[in-house]
Amino acid sequence: MSAVVGKLRETVCRLHDELVRYNLVAWTAGNISGRVPGEDLFVIKPSGVSYDELSPESMVVCDLDGEPVGGELSPSSDTAAHAYVYREMPQVGGVVHTHSTYASAWAARGEAIPCVLTAMADEFGGEIPVGPFALIGGDDIGRGIVATLKGHRSPAILMRNHGVFTVGADARAAVKAAVMCEDVARTVHVARQLGEPLPIPRPAVDSLYDRYQNVYGQRSPR
Ligand SMILES: [Zn+2]
Repeated sequence: MSAVVGKLRETVCRLHDELVRYNLVAWTAGNISGRVPGEDLFVIKPSGVSYDELSPESMVVCDLDGEPVGGELSPSSDTAAHAYVYREMPQVGGVVHTHSTYASAWAARGEAIPCVLTAMADEFGGEIPVGPFALIGGDDIGRGIVATLKGHRSPAILMRNHGVFTVGADARAAVKAAVMCEDVARTVHVARQLGEPLPIPRPAVDSLYDRYQNVYGQRSPR
């Protein structure tokens, strides 16, 4: 395996610690993948292995049909969905799936999370949309993710009656979106208990999104 793949195995493995740290997963129900730059391959969590036991070597390298390339472990049972996203969304370099509690509670009701917090405008550029009900196994989940996200700025989608999928330029960005998705799902849920949250006017959402995506943070060194 090339040095690039080796490095990505390490990165994807280590990022699973964040799912545990931010309380986004129970048992083994959550997974991360990262696209191998410049190759039709991605690295993904092995199926059914606990987060404590993950190692860079245990990560599974798959082609864009979701078929493992060498190795002995089976890839995550959500591999077909990750592969579909990589095939159809060339700008995506990382995919995350969780059943995080508050976001999945919105998914269980089939309700999009309305954009009522500036943090949502920043990260998601609007509401967090709901995708269709789809059974695991074939391309249905991937198709639902791609069809829904292509019409939204949001890097997160709530798959109805299921949970969250997020995408990003790389695996870390997709993990960040998963963490932020759960955070805002919780806050808007709490707000709902007390009354009706106030929507943010569209021009303000656009302005916040633009600033956060293009100006916020440290300038990268040249
Ligand atoms: Zn799931």
